[in-house]
Amino acid sequence: MIELKNLKKVFTKTSAGLGPINLKIKAGEWMTILGPSGSGKSTLLRLISGLEIQTEGEVVLSSPKNEISFVFQDAALLPWKSVLDNITLPLTLRGVPKLEAQSRAQPWIEKLKLSRFVSAHPHQLSGGLKMRVSIARALITEPKLLLLDEPFSALDEPIRIELGLELRELWKNLNPTVLLVTHSITEGIWLGDRVLVLSGQPGLSVLDQRIELGKDRSMAQRAHPEFLGLVNQCYELLRGP
Ligand code: ADP
Ligand code: MG
Repeated sequence: MIELKNLKKVFTKTSAGLGPINLKIKAGEWMTILGPSGSGKSTLLRLISGLEIQTEGEVVLSSPKNEISFVFQDAALLPWKSVLDNITLPLTLRGVPKLEAQSRAQPWIEKLKLSRFVSAHPHQLSGGLKMRVSIARALITEPKLLLLDEPFSALDEPIRIELGLELRELWKNLNPTVLLVTHSITEGIWLGDRVLVLSGQPGLSVLDQRIELGKDRSMAQRAHPEFLGLVNQCYELLRGP
């Protein structure tokens, strides 16, 4: 689905960039990406999405670029548009008639528990609700690839946990390939099927490990020895010398 071949980004002589990275990601896989600030996590997602052009190497994608959705830490909603109009935006931009776009939005509004807020504007919403809108907007196109760059970083822990679990449930049904960048080791390992740890400047892969927690995730798994072992292993790699 995604193959990165000797992928390298150099910005300037003084900024480090990323790579070379060699990696294959299967269609439908959920890969979590951990790494200190500046290790190239955002650059990696931007290279894969085509927002950034690599200096060397190659990104091979099996699905077209218009099947990619990107979610950022800042929900990045249009303040003058209602929740409904924000969610339907990717469809209306593609020329889907308004009424059709609104009916296609309906299941996502329900899944993201936004029914009460469709007429509200972003400034009336809490951070968690804004992120729900952002996720609905990302999923309405039913993307084959979902890129998440620290989507929950601005949220309180309980909301973060709840949204993470809900996103995992939505992923199970829609099954896009997911790349989740997060600063939370526990969140990343709990939600993913594979974890990639980047380190150094330029950022290189220092761990690429399967997460054997099964399809369904629950709070109880956070106490499993395998989970805690992998959390510790990542912590040791991330805490530096
Ligand atoms: P992360 O998301 O892991 O914090 P980034 O991908 O944002 O890291 O950045 C990786 C490295 O590339 C950092 O050293 C950063 O300063 C540099 N960098 C990122 N974007 C640019 C840019 N547009 N111009 C110059 N340097 C950049
Ligand atoms: Mg970043």
